[in-house]
This record gives sequence, structure tokens and C-alpha cells, in this order.
Amino acid sequence: MKNSEHLVVQEGFKVIKMKTRAARLYGANDVRLEEFELRPITSGELLIKIISDSVCMSTHKTIIQGAKHLRVPENVSEHPV
Ligand SMILES: [Zn+2]
Repeated sequence: MKNSEHLVVQEGFKVIKMKTRAARLYGANDVRLEEFELRPITSGELLIKIISDSVCMSTHKTIIQGAKHLRVPENVSEHPV
């Protein structure tokens, strides 16, 4: 995973803007590897760098079912997860 980050001062606060690369689900059997800008974090949120990850059977089921999966939002094609 390749990350680049830069700091932006916004209204007196340091805002970390970060570009990341991630696999995002758009629908059933539609997972895309994309590079995109993360939205700025807000108070009460943490920005965590993931070193490694894996795919379990529940993730596999989520990919196969897409928006039909109970935990996947119906608008996943416009707002991938
Ligand atoms: Zn799992």
C-alpha cells in the first residue's frame, strides 16, 4: 500500500489530508482497487494506517451478495464501502 499525506491548516486546526489506495465494493462481485483522497477526520474519529489485512468468509459473502447483503447500504454503487 502506498500512502502520501500532507498537512493543511484549516480554521486554526491542523487537518491531515491523505490519499490512500483501497479495494472498494460497488456491488455484487464488483470490487475495485482505487486511489482516492480520504475525507478529513473530525473530532472523535481516528485515522489508522493499516499494515496488513485479510479477507474472511463473511467478507467473501458480502462481495458475492453486494447490496443484497444486510450490512451493505442499498446505495453502495454510488457510495462504495
Ligand atoms: Zn469476518
